[in-house]
Amino acid sequence: MKIHPSDRKVEKCMRCRRRYRGHGEWNLQYDLGREVGVLCPDCQTPEENAEAVINEATIDYAKTVEMTEGEFVVRDLIRRSEEAAGKVARAAVAAGDRDLRHDDVIREVKDGLPARYPGTITQRDDMIRRIVTDVLSGDLYEDAP
Ligand SMILES: [Zn+2]
Repeated sequence: MKIHPSDRKVEKCMRCRRRYRGHGEWNLQYDLGREVGVLCPDCQTPEENAEAVINEATIDYAKTVEMTEGEFVVRDLIRRSEEAAGKVARAAVAAGDRDLRHDDVIREVKDGLPARYPGTITQRDDMIRRIVTDVLSGDLYEDAP
């Protein structure tokens, strides 16, 4: 997570015990949604960094929806959007079409949702559209401050 825990008390890296001094890309680590500590930039694996970026986006999206299942739903929708984007992209390439249309990806995500998926259709449509847009543009994976 690209947070800057400048307002935090004395934080030490979970692995090397280095102290956080107010700069650098330190990441909060979570276990089942609970904060368990921080990692300094040197100790983060690429996987942990990618996970952190997804976590940040998840929390950002989840704040915008009034659902108790918010974070779960967002994570699930991100995964579904990534899969749908891959599937639509492969189909487009196979058909000799170079365009990857957002609407096709969005439809693919919606069509794949289970019947009893949480949230209202309006909430879901809005979130799916935002997530697909961010997945396709790459914004979801950027190290935004
Ligand atoms: Zn460290």
